[in-house]
Amino acid sequence: MFRLDHHPSGRHFLQIPGPTNVPERILRAIGRPTIDHRGPEFGELGRAVLAGLRPVFRTEAPVVIYPSSGTGAWEAALVNTLSPGDRVLMAETGHFAALWCRLAGRLGLEVEQIGGDWRHGVDAAQVGERLQADAQRRIKAVCMVHNETSTGVVSDIAAVRAAIDRSGHPALLMVDAISSLGAIDYRHDEWGVDVTVAGAQKGLMLPPGLSFNAVGPRALAAAETARLPRSYWDWREMLASNRNGYFPYTPATSLLYGLHEALEMLAEEGLPRVYARHRRHAAATRAAVQTWGLETVCQEPQGHSPALTGVLMPDRRGADALRKIILERYDMSLGQGLGRLADQAFRIGHLGDFNDLTLCGTLAGVEMGLAAAGVPHRPGGVQAAMTLLAGEAAATADE
Ligand SMILES: *Cc1c(COP(=O)(O)O)cnc(C)c1O
Repeated sequence: MFRLDHHPSGRHFLQIPGPTNVPERILRAIGRPTIDHRGPEFGELGRAVLAGLRPVFRTEAPVVIYPSSGTGAWEAALVNTLSPGDRVLMAETGHFAALWCRLAGRLGLEVEQIGGDWRHGVDAAQVGERLQADAQRRIKAVCMVHNETSTGVVSDIAAVRAAIDRSGHPALLMVDAISSLGAIDYRHDEWGVDVTVAGAQKGLMLPPGLSFNAVGPRALAAAETARLPRSYWDWREMLASNRNGYFPYTPATSLLYGLHEALEMLAEEGLPRVYARHRRHAAATRAAVQTWGLETVCQEPQGHSPALTGVLMPDRRGADALRKIILERYDMSLGQGLGRLADQAFRIGHLGDFNDLTLCGTLAGVEMGLAAAGVPHRPGGVQAAMTLLAGEAAATADE
């Protein structure tokens, strides 16, 4: 039974890889009274968040904000640019990539999948080969997930862009950066991404409910001729209203207050520092996992996610029992294994509002849980993480 009065003492550790812990500053900002979304004060808020998002995507292009979860922004990217029967090339790097494929199929697109073992990133060479083989230019878009949140593997977007360019193919490049934005270095313009899909409840530290499309010039041009039905998600009306800081329908005003605060916090810390902090915490987490004698889901040395770590169970079972014990005894939520990794793996989220001691507490909860659940492991993982954290000075920008 769901009980609102269930308050264990101390703070719940929400260490799933999104939604992430919401900082007090953002909670306070969200608590402001609602204002008239057509009044002058709202226009200022709207203009501030619309402008403030661009540096986080590293783009000069407009960023559209939807009152929806990330899934809505997936749909928006496709319906604004494509027509019924268009072919899309999608790389299946994990559960989220698979869900985006399913959504594309349901919209009436023809999905060509590049399969994967869920332990590696997108193979750019394969993308290039598929495009070269497409002599009739039937593929209209290449879709990929930057940080595959179900596995903890990051794909190299610049490499995929280069493969597309080498093939001379005109397909659009669409990237899901839902769990990377605000946590992992991301460059919409420099990497030549046409549409970036993002969400607010992961690296941006907001509660669930906002999602984004960064829309490059080629995607905007495609929107003029795209024929999939769209209304709520239509960029054109949205961009017209956004010009003055307003929205064509009632915006999620409270979350926009929160977004304003989140953008301020990221600017205060500085994005290079934010990214370095995430990389450092991921390295400390991997030191713990290695000491425990467990295996990460990611098998690519260059692909380890700075935002989360997927951990395989010995014998690939018992992850859900482990998570249950950790929740009951230590009031910490860990990410479950998704799709084909159900019960085989668990995921440690280390993104968003996070510091060295949050990480040490998180890893201590995992280590105590491994012992309590009788999972074969070596102790000392937390110590290994602390040693790494102590050895490396606090996150410094290295860009
Ligand atoms: C969380 C997530 C999604 C799904 O977003 P919702 O907000 O749950 O709709 C999609 N892709 C990735 C990579 C994610 O991390």
